[in-house]
Amino acid sequence: MDRLYTFGKYLKKKFNKKIKKVPISIPGFTCPNIDGTVARGGCIFCENESFSPNFQKERITLNLNSKDNPLLQKQIEALKFQFFNTIKLYKKLYKSEKFIVYFQSFTNTYAPFDTLKTLYETALSFPDVIGLSIGTRTDSITDDTLNYLKELSKDYEIWVEYGIQSSNDETLKKINRGHDFKNVRETIKKTKELGLNVCGHLIFGLPGENQKDMLKSVEDSIALGIDSIKFHPLYVTDNTLLAIEYKKGEFTPISEEDYIDTLIKAIKMLPQNISIQRMTAGTTNLLAPEWCKDKSLQMSHIHKALKKAGIKL
Ligand code: SF4
Repeated sequence: MDRLYTFGKYLKKKFNKKIKKVPISIPGFTCPNIDGTVARGGCIFCENESFSPNFQKERITLNLNSKDNPLLQKQIEALKFQFFNTIKLYKKLYKSEKFIVYFQSFTNTYAPFDTLKTLYETALSFPDVIGLSIGTRTDSITDDTLNYLKELSKDYEIWVEYGIQSSNDETLKKINRGHDFKNVRETIKKTKELGLNVCGHLIFGLPGENQKDMLKSVEDSIALGIDSIKFHPLYVTDNTLLAIEYKKGEFTPISEEDYIDTLIKAIKMLPQNISIQRMTAGTTNLLAPEWCKDKSLQMSHIHKALKKAGIKL
């Protein structure tokens, strides 16, 4: 890639409108890697109730055959509340015209099918919504859900966002991911065969990985036929297994220089048709590394590095 192809540019080209993704966190959603179905505690970087006693306790019934979800009304209300509050802000700040509802927190295909259907269809019924982006794990999406999303994609812009993180099985074990890269490969193949848009999420700086490993994950992700990609530095927040390792001196976060160097090399590897949805991440609730505190400063360093590398913005 020699010209930065952001997701914003992809949307502008396709719809010729100002479109924003509206992030939503559905109460009661969890993850099979937290609730004991796959594992307990979750990925080592995931903040969840295993490490935080005050974390949300109320969870939906996770029997995938169950139609009984006592939290459904509360979930619909939360969806409405978050959507309408966020778009008010986006319209004011960015003059956004249309929206994609982004089911972001936890595993957004891990719930009874008719709960998912109700929530997705509620989101699609909101004004100016043109589609959905659904964040999930490759081991937690059923054929029913995939086929249903395929039907929706005839009328809406539908994206499935899978956490890949790394293509190295040793790393996936170290981070307690609960599935291997074969699972990622098979699920993404199936999703692409249905004609759905796929975004893959990668993390740089995972324990034990050098730049060669990180770039191999990029190469392997491209080979899966993904349509879009997100890059994320591994940072440490409290209430995670990684925080315990970090405090014991067992984990050293990636430096900003190494992260940006890897990112630029990764972007250069991308074919021009894969859009970039994220180049970095920051949080205020941070233990380390310090440079992840300020995302706008990171972005200015990344833009400088992109220009230096001859990648047009
Ligand atoms: S898959 Fe996501 S929600 Fe589940 S444990 Fe890992 S980071 Fe947390």
